Amino acid sequence: MSSSRSDEATPNICSDALAEPAVDVRDLVKEFSTATGILVAVNGVSMRVYPGEVYGLLGANGAGKTTTLRMMLGLQRPTSGTVRIAGFDVATQPIEVKRRVSLVSSSSGLYQWLTPREIMLYLADLYGVPDDEAAARAEMLADLFDLRGFMDRRCAGMSTGQQQRVNLARSLMHDPPVVLMDEPTRGLDIVGSRRIFEYTAHLRQQGKAVIFCTHRLDEAQRLCCRFGLMFRGQLKLEGTLADLQQRTGREHLTDMFLDLMPAESSMAARLTSLQGSGEP
Ligand code: ATP
Repeated sequence: MSSSRSDEATPNICSDALAEPAVDVRDLVKEFSTATGILVAVNGVSMRVYPGEVYGLLGANGAGKTTTLRMMLGLQRPTSGTVRIAGFDVATQPIEVKRRVSLVSSSSGLYQWLTPREIMLYLADLYGVPDDEAAARAEMLADLFDLRGFMDRRCAGMSTGQQQRVNLARSLMHDPPVVLMDEPTRGLDIVGSRRIFEYTAHLRQQGKAVIFCTHRLDEAQRLCCRFGLMFRGQLKLEGTLADLQQRTGREHLTDMFLDLMPAESSMAARLTSLQGSGEP
């Protein structure tokens, strides 16, 4: 096997093919002005994700994961740093980037007065997918995500899980090479969650590059090829599970994750400090 990359050591990847990175993030910084001063949400993050790889971007609430994804999508402008998706620069080639990337998020809304079929075909049209291809894809995704029972019903009135499955299906209508997943299993039952994990594994086999943000560390450990553990805007640890195990001496992601958290964030420490301060 030969590599077209020359500037650094070969990363640990799931896919056999050595390729150019599908996601290439360099020195990304995002600062927000807040009432109390500057908040650095993302602080010098660099990462690469390759075709055929599922990258687990993990971190506690507020670590900076969603902000990082939003900058990859071009929804938020970085304070500094660059993002390239499938070779295109997010800042200077935003349309090319949007053609090649998709966000699957539990917090995305659906047009409540449209049916899943209408939403999926509308999205396909926006992305320039030919009509016959879009119709076939909608059928395939309806089967895959078990939408058949409500494909032609308005989204208003559907359950959280049903809406989430429609959300997932509509974000895959243009079949992008890069898929960003932000807590895709939030609100789903066990069957729905498993479906997402199985489909993510399928995307990997198809050679897609997937970034998967989740708090379900057990599932992440099973699904992802490599991991980036974020803490307070920085990527503190990165590598395959075997790399991380070797570096941390810990077997499970949960323990590595907790080791990153400062001692004062535990409930026991908070209770002790409250008692010490005389608060009830
Ligand atoms: P979670 O797991 O809770 O979704 P996260 O890792 O995705 O968290 P972000 O949503 O990226 O975290 O937020 C990172 C930090 O940036 C947080 O402190 C958040 O309050 C702050 N933040 C995010 N967006 C804004 C904004 N538009 N204005 C000000 N602060 C923001």
